[in-house]
Amino acid sequence: MSDKPNATDAANSAGEPARPLHFLEQIITQDLETATVNKLVTRFPPEPNGYLHIGHAKSICLNFGLAERFGGACNLRFDDTNPAKEEMEYVDAIKEDVTWLGFTWQDDVKFASSYFDTFYKWAQHLIKEGHAYVCDLSPEQAREYRGTLKEPGKNSPYRDRSPQESLDLLEGMKNGDYEEGSRSLRAKIDMANGNINLRDPVLYRIRKQTHHQTGDKWCIYPTYDFAHGQEDAIEGVTHSICTLEFADHRPLYEWLLEHLPVPTKPKQYEFGRLNLNYTVTSKRKLKQLVDEQKVTGWDDPRMPTIAGYRRRGYTAQAIRKFCEMIGVTKSDGVVDVAMLEHAIRDDLDKNAPRAMCVLDPIKVTLTNYPSDKTEAFTAPGHPNRDDLPSRILPFGQTLFIDAADFREEANKKYKRLVIGKRVRLRNAYIIEADEAVKNDNGDVIEVKARIIENTVGNDPEDGIKAKGVIHWVAAHDCLDVHVNLYDRLFTDAAPDAGDKDFLDSLNPESLTVLQNAKAEKSLAESAPSQGFQFEREGYFCRDNKAQGLVFNRTITLRDSWAQKK
Ligand code: ATP
Ligand code: MG
Repeated sequence: MSDKPNATDAANSAGEPARPLHFLEQIITQDLETATVNKLVTRFPPEPNGYLHIGHAKSICLNFGLAERFGGACNLRFDDTNPAKEEMEYVDAIKEDVTWLGFTWQDDVKFASSYFDTFYKWAQHLIKEGHAYVCDLSPEQAREYRGTLKEPGKNSPYRDRSPQESLDLLEGMKNGDYEEGSRSLRAKIDMANGNINLRDPVLYRIRKQTHHQTGDKWCIYPTYDFAHGQEDAIEGVTHSICTLEFADHRPLYEWLLEHLPVPTKPKQYEFGRLNLNYTVTSKRKLKQLVDEQKVTGWDDPRMPTIAGYRRRGYTAQAIRKFCEMIGVTKSDGVVDVAMLEHAIRDDLDKNAPRAMCVLDPIKVTLTNYPSDKTEAFTAPGHPNRDDLPSRILPFGQTLFIDAADFREEANKKYKRLVIGKRVRLRNAYIIEADEAVKNDNGDVIEVKARIIENTVGNDPEDGIKAKGVIHWVAAHDCLDVHVNLYDRLFTDAAPDAGDKDFLDSLNPESLTVLQNAKAEKSLAESAPSQGFQFEREGYFCRDNKAQGLVFNRTITLRDSWAQKK
């Protein structure tokens, strides 16, 4: 039997059910079968001008995933051709995020800037062959000459200058002899072409900027088009996979490979980018949220960045699962963020240890329980996972329960603690409430209750059962913790659609900070980033940055937005 994947066997390494191959898998399968390529090489090419977001995760899972699946390799290559907006901080963050998602790149990370010498030689080559020229039109003039979708452009008056003159001018541009915007190097293709990208596109621009890798060596920087295909060719990338908006650039990608002495001939393929509702996935807009301090940073748990999701408690496994679920197609669409939330809920339900944490505590005094007595109950770490260690729950006369779990009076639907009624304390006794103690404002500050004897693990002997179960902690031996309740960052499903200003729909309730929460003691040993289900409250994780015990709500137990809609 062949161990090559066939058209229906797309089981991934996690043993997921088979699904049909998507169009890129079909292309690669065929290229390997026909020996058009011997080994698949892909690349993930971020520009280090921001942190990676969930859209990038799709591209990462696709490029690295294909390499894994077809026994190939994937490069992590920084497309660092625009020094104005790029920084080392982003390079480091991107490496961390790709690694965290569980992928390994081939060899060392690569930088487009390490090929700048070659690009320069290739630019000289194009000039000598009559395929490029230095143009002295200003950017505004060049725009006028370019024409429109309906009208052809006009040739630049500099188009026919001699190759030697262009070579000298390019040298001068490189050395910083001319001002930014005064000249550019352009390919000589066709000013009347229906595809505007082929109307003598700019290959090099003057930029007197210090670069994070090359310092002040260069005063000219290549455009995306004059860099990307050549980087792919130098690295031996076989399948250069990008998002649909680059489809119109493909003819130029191919033209350059055709006219340059490149070592290999990569091919470009386009797929539909990921758009998520209630979410903004544009680095520029995410940077604006950071710069204008609408969030605390790129890794704010409300940000759709990989660093933000990590800090919020999303797992790499859930993000990868989500990327698998949404599939790969040749058209753009909008994915419901509830799908991503479902993926994380599903993962944490299966894997997160359980714990009790009272978010809005009120005191319960058990009047029939001796003040000097304590007990310790054992609770499972997870209802279905024997491999997760059990927890010790101290018990005593004074407890905390959540204020929302007590009412003086209530109808039958309310299955929590009510005066004269019973409720089970999770993993402990059934109790019955007798009295509410109030302050001068009439707020309940304490509940007096009694335990029903012999009800730990048993029903009451008098046959009067408890209707519901609530969580609790023992006042004498619990932890003071801070809890951040995060919700979606935007209230509008399409925050940046059309001409909307995405800042107008920032959710004012995207963060609620609880300073007085009380948690069971087992959480003292939790590791940063560790995830939990706080029983009856949701999924939380220990913050990986804050000092002390701070927990971030990853996601509620159920989708509360579905009801709001
Ligand atoms: P942004 O629009 O957020 O600035 P970008 O495309 O400019 O994103 P790059 O750093 O150039 O950011 O992206 C690196 C790779 O990730 C590219 O190959 C790009 O096609 C891919 N990518 C970016 N956004 C998405 C998305 N929403 N869905 C899928 N792939 C994406
Ligand atoms: Mg880009």
